[in-house]
Amino acid sequence: MAIINSACTCGRKITVATGADSMSNHRKDGKQAYYPEHLPSVEYNYSIFRCESCGKPASETVKGYEYDL
Ligand SMILES: [Zn+2]
Repeated sequence: MAIINSACTCGRKITVATGADSMSNHRKDGKQAYYPEHLPSVEYNYSIFRCESCGKPASETVKGYEYDL
């Protein structure tokens, strides 16, 4: 479990949360990705699928957010 301050290959800063630090169950490996200036909360919980800057799948462009299967 960890909070990783990562970024997309385009430079967009993206935070990756794993294990107990993640609030997401969308993925089997439990990882959650979010924009550091928009922290997920109980009211607004989300996980990035595509980078908002370049539109590429975050699982392919964000270090630490690749699938752990
Ligand atoms: Zn990007």
